[in-house]
Amino acid sequence: MNTEVVNPATEQVVATVPSTSAADADAAIERAHRALPAWRAVAPGDRARLLRRFAEAVDSDVDNLASLEVANSGHTIGNARWEAGNVRDVLHYYAAAPERLFGRQIPVPGGVNVTFAEPLGVVGVIVPWNFPMPIAGWGFAPALAAGNTVVLKPAELTPLTAIRLGELAREAGIGEDVFQVLPGRGSVVGQRFVDHPLVRKVVFTGSTEVGRGIMAGCAAQVKRVTLELGGKNANIVFADADLERAAATAPYGVFDNAGQDCCARSRILVQRSAFDRFLGLLEPAVRGVVVGDPASERTEMGPLISAGHLASVSSYVDDEVEVAFRGSAPEGPGYWFPPTVVLPRTPTDRTVVDEVFGPVVTVQAFDDEADALRMANDTDYGLSGSIWTRDVGRALRVARGVEAGNLSVNSHSSVRYWTPFGGMKQSGLGRELGPDALDAFTETKNVFIATEGES
Ligand code: NAD
Repeated sequence: MNTEVVNPATEQVVATVPSTSAADADAAIERAHRALPAWRAVAPGDRARLLRRFAEAVDSDVDNLASLEVANSGHTIGNARWEAGNVRDVLHYYAAAPERLFGRQIPVPGGVNVTFAEPLGVVGVIVPWNFPMPIAGWGFAPALAAGNTVVLKPAELTPLTAIRLGELAREAGIGEDVFQVLPGRGSVVGQRFVDHPLVRKVVFTGSTEVGRGIMAGCAAQVKRVTLELGGKNANIVFADADLERAAATAPYGVFDNAGQDCCARSRILVQRSAFDRFLGLLEPAVRGVVVGDPASERTEMGPLISAGHLASVSSYVDDEVEVAFRGSAPEGPGYWFPPTVVLPRTPTDRTVVDEVFGPVVTVQAFDDEADALRMANDTDYGLSGSIWTRDVGRALRVARGVEAGNLSVNSHSSVRYWTPFGGMKQSGLGRELGPDALDAFTETKNVFIATEGES
């Protein structure tokens, strides 16, 4: 079976990619398993060198990878270059790991006690369509660095950059069975990662609904799992904040990648005394977002990923919904939806509760700090969020109070590859990136060596 890859800005087919069957997925998993002993035996310095070479191959290919992502995913060219560069940087960062994969020596009587960080085995990485490159890299780079072999399944809609990354790994000298990219369906290839006993860990990024099923499936074999799931993140703006900056940046905190971002700040909560002024400042900022051809350097927001997703996002903004104002979107072919600001009628409106995963943001008023926290935490999700205030004490109190894994104060930045990333509550399980990511790809083995002969 083949999958047609469609450019979401033009609706043209840009490639046809063969879908991996369940039998082929099994064969790939078995090859990955056979490749393990040799890969984990590569000397730490040599494994580091291979990962650095992989990073350099990605660096030389940044423009090509970025063009592929523009054509496949409709990402703006600026974002797509950043995403390819992120894969390079994550590879460089974890290339330092093989030589630093320390165990511990723990004092015990009668001998020496040491711990080893052992690789898990074959790691299956399942990637969603919204950030095909970075999310793949956050899984495969630390997994490979720790001595695991990797099978990676890109999303059905966005396989092109993952396939290219597989080729670049090979060019860098990483064995073809050490890192394999298997395009195909979630219910076929992804499900084999969950069910096949030789896959010892699944790294899943995607919807909470599918993630729940993956966790349940992995439980059958007590398989390790990392889950990065949905978000419904709050952007909390206090009246004492720099309102001009808060309003000027709010559109980019939610409409980046056309709102198809698990970290999108899709609920703006504004202190009541500043509500009207904030909304007045937000309107020109939203109207000013440049929506259009993602290949243009000027463009700030591209199309949605597919016709199906456009229908889903559109269903949230029906005649019942009060739209405060909207930005623009091109006419003609492509899955376009304008940046849209909604004033919800109740706290249970679908736009407030659901992860719309499109350029739709709600704006609601709160009274005080306690009220802001109550509203921010009134969700099953807990991934990210922003806090805007000039009061340092309040910034810290609120940051400690919001139940989310990644918060920013007077900023909307959530992701740096050298700091931990992940969700609380139903936004996920485990953390990626940062100095501790290797823990998620290794298992601690404890060894006691007697130093006293038997008497
Ligand atoms: P999705 O859950 O539909 O699919 C994600 C991946 O899982 C795809 O590769 C898909 O083929 C695969 N899959 C589907 N069914 C499967 C099954 N039964 N077994 C194994 N694999 C299966 O999600 P999506 O629509 O591609 O991505 C959007 C979602 O991802 C949003 O909810 C978003 O918030 C979330 N996301 C989370 C993070 C994070 O870091 N927390 C990052 C990006 C996206």
